[in-house]
This record gives sequence, C-alpha cells and structure tokens, in this order.
Amino acid sequence: MNIGFVGLGIMGKPMAKNLLKAGHKLTVYDIVTASVEELTAAGAEAASSAADAAARSELTITMLPDGPDVEAAVLNPGGVLDGAAAGSIIVDMSSINPVTAQKVGAACAEKGVEFLDAPVSGGEPKAIDATLAIMVGGSQDTFDKALPVLKSLGSSATLTGPVGAGNVTKLANQIMVACNIAAMGEALVLATKAGLDPEVVFNAVKGGLAGSTVLNAKAPMVIGRNFKPGFRIRLHQKDLRNALLAAESMKVALPFTSMVQQMLVASMNNGRGDLDHSAIVNIIEDMAQCQVRKPE
Ligand code: NAD
Repeated sequence: MNIGFVGLGIMGKPMAKNLLKAGHKLTVYDIVTASVEELTAAGAEAASSAADAAARSELTITMLPDGPDVEAAVLNPGGVLDGAAAGSIIVDMSSINPVTAQKVGAACAEKGVEFLDAPVSGGEPKAIDATLAIMVGGSQDTFDKALPVLKSLGSSATLTGPVGAGNVTKLANQIMVACNIAAMGEALVLATKAGLDPEVVFNAVKGGLAGSTVLNAKAPMVIGRNFKPGFRIRLHQKDLRNALLAAESMKVALPFTSMVQQMLVASMNNGRGDLDHSAIVNIIEDMAQCQVRKPE
C-alpha cells in the first residue's frame, strides 16, 4: 500500500520503519528534517508537507504529541486533509482528547475521507518490536480496510466503538498506568525507608496479586535510577489532563487521576518533564527524603 506518515518522534520513527519492513511504499513528513532524513536513509520518500504525504498515499498515519498538533497537522492549510483524496483513509495514532478526535473525524467525513482514531500502548520497545496494543475508534468498514496496516505495527488492534472511542480507551489505559506507578512509588519508598532492599521487595511481590506489567517494567528502572524516556512525564501529564477534561464533561469524578496529574505537573516544574514517567516516584521520594535504591 502507499502509506503516508506524519510525525517521526520516539514512537513514529520505529513505527514507520516497521511499515517499510512490511513492504509498504512510505512517504514521510516531520517538521524536524533530521528525522525525515533518517527515514529516507531507511527507504522512505520525503514529502514537502503533510498535504504532500497524504496526496501520495491511500492511507496516512499521524503520530503527534497532542490534539492541537493533530489539528494543526491535519486541518490547517497544507495539512493532511488538504492533500487527502476522497476515499482515502487518515489514521491518527496520537493520544489526544476524544473530543478533538471527533472534530478531526467530522472534518474528514465532510471531504469524503475516512478517519480512525487509533492510539497505542506499549511505548518505544513495543513500537520497535511491532507489538503495540492499538485501540481504535471508527466504523467497522474503515477498520477492516486499515487492519492489515495496523497489524504491521502491533500485536493487537481492537475496535472499541465509533470515532473517539480509541482515545477514551487510551485514557482509561493511561489512568491505570499512572496510578499504578504512583502506588508502586509509595510502596517502594515505604519499604526502603524501613531499611529493606527494594529489589528484594519487588521480587517478593511480583508473583502475587500486586504483580503487573507496570511493576515489572518500572520497578527495575526506579531501583536502577534509570529515568531515561520511554514515555515522558510531560506526555503522561497531557493524557491525564485530557482524561480529567473528558471526565468533567461527563460529570465523572476521578480523584486518584487528579492527584497523580497534580504530581505530574509538580514533576514538570521540578525540571523532570522530559524524564520517563517512572520518575513520578521522585515526588514521593522528595516528600519522604528517601530514594528507592539498593542499600550501600
Ligand atoms: P515525540 O514528541 O517524540 O514525537 C512527536 C513528533 O511529531 C516529533 O518528531 C515532532 O517533530 C513531530 N511534529 C509535531 N508537530 C508536527 C507537525 N505539525 N507536523 C509534522 N510533525 C510534527 O512524541 P512520541 O513519544 O513519539 O509520542 C507521540 C504520541 O504517541 C503522543 O500522543 C504520545 O502520548 C503517544 N504515545 C507515546 C508513547 C511513548 O512511550 N513515547 C507510548 C504510547 C503513546
């Protein structure tokens, strides 16, 4: 298939490379030229704009930081929708506010362009391995057409409802991950302050009910003091802000989410915005004046 790809960041780059590996013809665009050059070296063609990428493609994927970036890259003059032909498909795989996904989807529908919101979970390692979990909103028909492409990027792609549903599912995912990391942080700070080796505690609990994918991925990072992203604090803050906005519009109270979102804001103010989200733990460490690390 001729595929366009707009947004070649931590996630977009490996995803684009997997599309090349799967044998698709790929046209790429990013505002950062060096990222485009990395993909052209791997076999992609460079587009002169997002519209140009879409004009040369039957299906165009966007992988951008947040809703305003998606609106700019898709809806602005020179954006994806400007170049997309009627009958082509736009798949936004960024994590954004579901309301923005619906706005972009409606603009696409007016032009006869099909749209899916299809955010992902799994982070950079799963983007590299093409084992992302993809949560999709849109029509069954469009989903079926895009599925072979999504299968080159992830190990699962699940249609959870109409346009916007992909991002509602992703927000649910992000709430669980963030609250899980914060709870892990409180637990490991308590254990360390009590004089225990946090690695021994991690190994003791990981096979029980407290065990989780989050614990297995993030506890070793915290204990090893490795906060290289991964998934940046500022992006997770954005996701929880979107979750709270969506919740407010539905009159749903999310007390834990709002607490962790405040911790993420504080982390950004402490200069930790570009660290991995496992650095949520640093806020709890600061309050206890105790770092989670192996005893000397
Ligand atoms: P990133 O900041 O590394 O990459 C974003 C890319 O978009 C950058 O290369 C930037 O130059 C480009 N860009 C921004 N505006 C543009 C525009 N108008 N036109 C063209 N290119 C533009 O972000 P990322 O970590 O790759 O995340 C992308 C999305 O995926 C976010 O919504 C994030 O929440 C989500 N996500 C990230 C992870 C992760 O672990 N990093 C995991 C799951 C989901």
